Amino acid sequence: MTQDADASVRALLGPDGPIARRLPEFEPRPQQVELAHAIERALQQRRHLIAEAGTGTGKSFAYLLPAVVHADQHQGEGPIVVSTRTIALQEQLEQKDLPFLHAVLPFEWSSVTALGRNNYLCLRRMHLAEREQHLFEDPGRHDQLRRIVDWSLVTREGTRQDLDFQPDTEVWEEVQAEHGNCLQRACKHYDHCHWQRAKRRMQTAQVLVVNHALYFADLALRIAGASYLPPHRVVIFDEAHHLERTATESLGLRVGPGTVGWHLRRLHARRSERSLLSRHGTPVARLLWEEARQHNDAFFATIAEELRAGGARDGAALKDRTLEEPLTPVLRALSTELASAAVRVEQVDARMELQARANGLDALCAALRSLCIHNPEAATPLVRWVEPTRHGAALCGAPLDVSETLRRHLWSGGATAILTSATLATGADDDFTWLRRRLGLDDADTVRLGSPFDYDRMVELVLEDAMPDPSQQAAAFRHEVAERTLRHLLANGGRGLVLCTSWEFVRGLAVALRAPLADAGIELLVQGDGPLARLLERKREQPTSVLLGTDSLWEGIDLRGPALTLLVVTRLPFQSPGHPLTQARLEAMRARGQDPFAEHSLPEAVLRFRQGFGRLVRSSQDRGKVVVMDPRVRTKAYGRRFLGALPFRGEHRDP
Ligand code: SF4
Repeated sequence: MTQDADASVRALLGPDGPIARRLPEFEPRPQQVELAHAIERALQQRRHLIAEAGTGTGKSFAYLLPAVVHADQHQGEGPIVVSTRTIALQEQLEQKDLPFLHAVLPFEWSSVTALGRNNYLCLRRMHLAEREQHLFEDPGRHDQLRRIVDWSLVTREGTRQDLDFQPDTEVWEEVQAEHGNCLQRACKHYDHCHWQRAKRRMQTAQVLVVNHALYFADLALRIAGASYLPPHRVVIFDEAHHLERTATESLGLRVGPGTVGWHLRRLHARRSERSLLSRHGTPVARLLWEEARQHNDAFFATIAEELRAGGARDGAALKDRTLEEPLTPVLRALSTELASAAVRVEQVDARMELQARANGLDALCAALRSLCIHNPEAATPLVRWVEPTRHGAALCGAPLDVSETLRRHLWSGGATAILTSATLATGADDDFTWLRRRLGLDDADTVRLGSPFDYDRMVELVLEDAMPDPSQQAAAFRHEVAERTLRHLLANGGRGLVLCTSWEFVRGLAVALRAPLADAGIELLVQGDGPLARLLERKREQPTSVLLGTDSLWEGIDLRGPALTLLVVTRLPFQSPGHPLTQARLEAMRARGQDPFAEHSLPEAVLRFRQGFGRLVRSSQDRGKVVVMDPRVRTKAYGRRFLGALPFRGEHRDP
């Protein structure tokens, strides 16, 4: 393409551009053009950019267009990586936005969606599983394997997402491509291997679409000297407000009884005569397997009991404590035994399986040691804690601060980074000081664009009067919230979303609302009663229903039109300070002489509040009411920060 890039991006998004011509409902938006232009400029100047653009801007096209134009101008210089928050958002780009752009743009370019290796079928392992006729005792699983074999003859992508049914995890694990379990060019399926083909396509793609978890897993690999994604000159992060959390998870560790159980189950299921261990393991390995199983149950039962006795609901910090654990020596011995058994196995596929299981146990031992042993000398010391889970307790660890790691390995790694989202600023900090500090992104251009929606006209904001203070009169507050929420919901004919800040609050409110709403013919959908995707589907089918929840409902859900015309914010979304990682981060701030409330808790809550508010208006047709029950938004000085961060232009900005 020979056009001037700036002009081309404006032209492509303009009223006479190819997008407007092909999309009848397309409305040219100045914010979209401005965002695309800012991204184009940052790519040309090789400058990192933080770009906030309000709901309705049309961010996907605003970053995809300059990305594609730039990729076209820099062919052969590595792909432009676009990273979305979830696989579902990745699929949305792959199935909707990218095919559309391929159809309308006046030049050829290539895009590839990358998934983690375990999502791809390994033909060699599939045939091994097929040969081991009795691998699964359950006839239903046999049938699933047979369907996978049939599908392998026709699938183009060879990914789990491409299957027309959901196989059991145990079945897919027997046929998936795995790290450390691949014969590479020595494999007779190499030329037809879906995983190898996907890797080759990734190398040559001009635009490579990944998700944040995959990108940060790759970053962790790169830090360790390996890599999965090809070298790239640009990375664009959509929903970039998730980066700190994803980085923390990817650079952290978590081991529970299920983790150890998973490794053991992949070797041998009890009562199975045909397991890997039964067929190829030694008597010593079988004894060690049984010993490891018993230690696993006993060790995690003990720490779960200790956690219960301590009464810490969010988890208990391990600080400088070293946990004595009996698992590692047994798992290491089992790994050694498997590795020597593997050497004696003639059949190459079985040998690979045994060696891969042994390597997996070694990695598990390393994780257990890092979590159990206090080691202030470690390259990246972890904050360690024990966390309650549905089935007991898990050991967790995360870096105190990811900023230094990101500064060194991501922002200075050579790729230009574009961070975009509808919510990145914590109020009036137009230069994103808070975000930049958390991510270690010291030097970046910034742009902050409002939403094209007229919130003053579209949203009525109601601040409830005379409410008890939730931090001082918790019971009275709960009671009043239930009464008033019910009143608002009945007056609105349901069609509501109620946002809480704890599961306990959700459960209490569900009990208070369910019967009176049912009497009025309004269905109550409570988060946790089923998979979130199913609850959202039900909410759309039954627009008068009410969705009640916490946590992930504050962001990322998209309910348009009559299904959502009332949003109730029960409490200001301050994070529980009881979580050991939060506690450690707050303590570290205090030790540096910083004010943890002003510099951590408040900005984080303001950001979350903005995200929750953003659930109501998703399109230019949406209208509705936002009710805030928490009185602190008016009674406390910091309340202004919350209200001032909302996208109103008129009277609500400064109450
Ligand atoms: S090349 Fe590797 S991933 Fe592909 S079929 Fe062979 S062993 Fe499996």
